[in-house]
Amino acid sequence: MQPHPVIVNLCALCGSVAAERSDRCTTCGAVGASGRVQAELGADARWARVELSFRCVGCGFSSPLDHLDLDGTLSCAHCGLDQAFDVRAYSRVLSTAHDVVDLCGADPEVRRPGSALSRDNPYHHIGVSVSDQAWSEPHVVGGREALRVRVSPGHPLCDRCKVPQVPYPSHDQLGLRCPQCHRLQSYALVPQAQSFHPGVVAVVAPGHRCDLRQVSEAITAAGAAKLGCPHCGAPLHTDQHATSVTCAHCHQPSLISSKLWYRLGVREPRTEPIWLWFRGRSPRRRALEQRGQDVDPFELELQARARAVLEARGRPAPQLAASSPSAPQLVASSPSTPQLAAPAPPPIQFAAAPRSHAVLVVVGGSVVLFALFAGVIAYLALL
Ligand SMILES: [Zn+2]
Ligand SMILES: [Zn+2]
Ligand SMILES: [Zn+2]
Ligand SMILES: [Zn+2]
Repeated sequence: MQPHPVIVNLCALCGSVAAERSDRCTTCGAVGASGRVQAELGADARWARVELSFRCVGCGFSSPLDHLDLDGTLSCAHCGLDQAFDVRAYSRVLSTAHDVVDLCGADPEVRRPGSALSRDNPYHHIGVSVSDQAWSEPHVVGGREALRVRVSPGHPLCDRCKVPQVPYPSHDQLGLRCPQCHRLQSYALVPQAQSFHPGVVAVVAPGHRCDLRQVSEAITAAGAAKLGCPHCGAPLHTDQHATSVTCAHCHQPSLISSKLWYRLGVREPRTEPIWLWFRGRSPRRRALEQRGQDVDPFELELQARARAVLEARGRPAPQLAASSPSAPQLVASSPSTPQLAAPAPPPIQFAAAPRSHAVLVVVGGSVVLFALFAGVIAYLALL
């Protein structure tokens, strides 16, 4: 069944889906149902808010990622050490993130009684009692440390107006425009991400901005680091929480990364969300929907018996409506290991019982009933 777009409540601070039964956002810790904003949970395209971090093999500090780093090395935001990263972990991270947004309990179809999506669904509580799902991909950083992942369904918000931004996809980038202040941000498409999971259509993160340059770091004669305009080189002045700044000299805006603030000794590197835009069904949702279409074998046997009895009485038998999927299907045994299962076995064939057998069954049944009746009469007579 095709899902319909639904309106959900989001945390106004981080954009994660708000849990219906809690006024605390488990993604960012914000408390209070008043700080909520509404957005559409799309029918065919949905957003996942993803936080990625790892423990540095050199200094041991936790270091956040501000983009999908696909070159096979991760750089520690604290000590700057480059360490090997097994990028194959992205296949599990991206497909599980897709499952989380496609199977979250914020979707009424998932919570409908009897829905195929409500069984074997480890994400049905997301949007109901919690906002997110967290897990680790072990031994992928420097051969021993884990990549920590936190995913929640949601929608990227304008950081000034706190309203959902509207996506404008084009052939080589994705624009996000705020419907209130009309500010437009552009992000480069990351085609390599699709080689890890084809459902990803866009990645929205500070490290993928393509419309603004990063602020440069200039070392003055006195040895102090200053922020420099990447366009004209003029010194920049801004407060210590800014993520962007406009040059007073050339009036060009530029970005300030969390890592740069840390290198300048101003503050700890912050975990920036990476927003992934997914299109189509997630692997696990496809498997659950497919399973929901299969007819229960017990149901099938009951239908076959009813058909045999009807045929024995000379009435036309109804046709069985059993679907028989013959193509291999994706079956996810656990959230992190979706795997190709063997093709589904052909449906169990129940040959229609010959008429004489059915007649025998009816006659046999009558004999048993008669014997029981006679037994009861004899028992009553004895009393
Ligand atoms: Zn939040
Ligand atoms: Zn480090
Ligand atoms: Zn805005
Ligand atoms: Zn400038």
